[in-house]
Amino acid sequence: MSAPQQTIHVGGEWRSAVSGATREIIDPVDADVFAVVSEGGVTDTDDAVAAARAAFDEGTWPRTPVAGRAALLRRVAALLERDRERIGALESRDAGKTLEEGRVDVDCVRDAFVYFADLVMNESGGRVVDAGSDEIHSVVVHEPVGVCALITPWNYPLLQASWKIAPALAAGNTFVVKPSEITPLTTVALIGLLMEAGLPQGVANIVTGAGDTVGARLAEHPDVDLVSFTGGLASGTKVARAAAETVKKVALELGGKNPNVVFADACATDEGFDTAVDQALNAAFIHSGQVCSAGSRLIVEEPLRERFVAELARRAGKIRLGRGTDPGVECGPLVSAQQLAKTEDFVASALAEGAVLRAGGERPDGPGYFYRPTVLDRCDRRMRVVREEVFGPVLTVETFRTEDEAVTLANDTEYGLAGAVWTADAGRARRVAGRLRHGTVWINDFHPYLPQAEWGGFGKSGIGRELGPTGLAEYREAKHIYQNLAPRPVRWFAG
Ligand code: NAD
Repeated sequence: MSAPQQTIHVGGEWRSAVSGATREIIDPVDADVFAVVSEGGVTDTDDAVAAARAAFDEGTWPRTPVAGRAALLRRVAALLERDRERIGALESRDAGKTLEEGRVDVDCVRDAFVYFADLVMNESGGRVVDAGSDEIHSVVVHEPVGVCALITPWNYPLLQASWKIAPALAAGNTFVVKPSEITPLTTVALIGLLMEAGLPQGVANIVTGAGDTVGARLAEHPDVDLVSFTGGLASGTKVARAAAETVKKVALELGGKNPNVVFADACATDEGFDTAVDQALNAAFIHSGQVCSAGSRLIVEEPLRERFVAELARRAGKIRLGRGTDPGVECGPLVSAQQLAKTEDFVASALAEGAVLRAGGERPDGPGYFYRPTVLDRCDRRMRVVREEVFGPVLTVETFRTEDEAVTLANDTEYGLAGAVWTADAGRARRVAGRLRHGTVWINDFHPYLPQAEWGGFGKSGIGRELGPTGLAEYREAKHIYQNLAPRPVRWFAG
C-alpha cells in the first residue's frame, strides 16, 4: 500500500487534514487499497473557503484581463495533453474504466479548457442598452460570482470537475472543489496542473473528504457565493436545501433515466439494424452503465422487439469484463461494493415484478465489483427498475405501437436529462425530438456531447446547464451600470 498523500490544497499549499485523518482509495477491479488520501473535515473546508474568499476579494485573478485568464486555461490544456497517459491511467484505475476511456476523458477535459478560453476571448465585454437619451450611458456587464463550491461525483471525476473549473476560472472566480471521496485522485492531479500553469495561490483549492462533512459545509457556508453540484438526486436535494439558508446561487446536475426510442423503420436494412443495436449496447453499457445519460430504457416498436432484444442480449453476453488496462477488455467493474449491491437489488426486484432476464443478471466469478451486462425484457413503467436510476449495467426493454405512445413512455420519468430517437423518417425524427422533455435529444445517435452545446436536465435532472455559453453564464452575475452624463434635479418632491 502506498504512503498517504497530502491531497488538500489550501491557499497554494498541499497539506494533510487538520485532524490527521486519511481515507483508503480502493481499486474496484480487485478491491485492493491502492492509494491513501487526506480525509478533510469542516475545519479544512473553512480554511479552504477563507483562502478562496481572500483570493477573490483581494487577489489578482478576478481582475486579470480576459486574455490572461484565457492564456492560463490554454496552458492547462497543453499540460493535460502532456500528461494524457498518466492522468488517463489514473482515471482508469480510480473509476474502474478502460484505459482508452480514461484517455478520452482527458481529451474531453482539455477540450473544455480550450472551449472556455475561446469563449471568453470572443466576447464583446458588455451590452450597451439604449436608455432613450443621448445623456444616458447604460451598459450591462458580467462579473464573476465570487467563491464557488464545486462538488463532483465518481463516475466521470475529472470531466465533471473540469466542466465546472474551466468556466469558473474563465469568468474570474475562485473555488473550492470537493471531488467524490471514492475517486479524488485525478482532481487532485488537475489542481497540480493549474498551479503549474501559473494560477495565483488561493484561487484553486481542493478538500478531499466526505459529502456529509466537507460537501455539506460547502453548501451551507456563508462565504460561498455559488454551489455547483453534480451527483445524485438525494444529495442534490440536500445541497439545494442547505444553500437556500444563505441564498447562494445553486446549479444542480443530477441523475437521469434516459429513454432510447427505436422505431422499426430505423432497422429496415441490415445495416440500420446493426447500427441501432450496436448503439443501444453502447448507450446502456459503456462504463458499466455508470453514466448519468446512460440509455438505460430501451423503448422499441413492438414488431421489432424480439429480433432486436435477441441480438442485443447475444452481444451483451460477449462484452469482455476486466481490468481496464488489460488488452481486449471492453468494460470495467462497478465503482464500489455499494454500487454492486444496489445493482443486484434492482435486478432482483425487477425479476420479482415480472421482468424477463435475457442476458447477465449475475456477478462473474473472481474478485472486484464486476456485474455482467444485463438485459431485462418485458418491463413496464410501474417497475422500480424502470423508474429509478440504477447506475449499473442494466437495460430495461419496453415496447410501443404508435408514435404517441413512444413519446408518452419516453417522457414518463421524473428525470429529463437525455434521450434518443432512432428512425429513418426525418419528419418523425423532428416531431419526436420536439416533444421529448429532455435536456439533450439525440437523433440516430447516442451519448455524444459538444463543449459548445449546453448540457443539463429538465425535471429532477437538475437546475441550470453546464457547457456552452449558458455554462459560462452560471459563473457570472449580470450588473447594469447606468450613467447619467447630464445630471439634474428630478423635482418629484415639490418642497
Ligand atoms: P452522490 O450524490 O452520492 O455524490 C456526489 C457528490 O456529492 C460527492 O462528492 C459526494 O461526496 C457529495 N455529497 C454527498 N452528500 C452530500 C451532502 N449532503 N452535501 C454535499 N455534498 C454531498 O453521487 P455519486 O454517487 O457520486 O454520483 C452518481 C450520481 O451522479 C448519479 O445520480 C448520476 O446520474 C449523477 N451524475 C450526473 C451528471 C450530470 O451531468 N447530470 C453527471 C455525472 C453524474
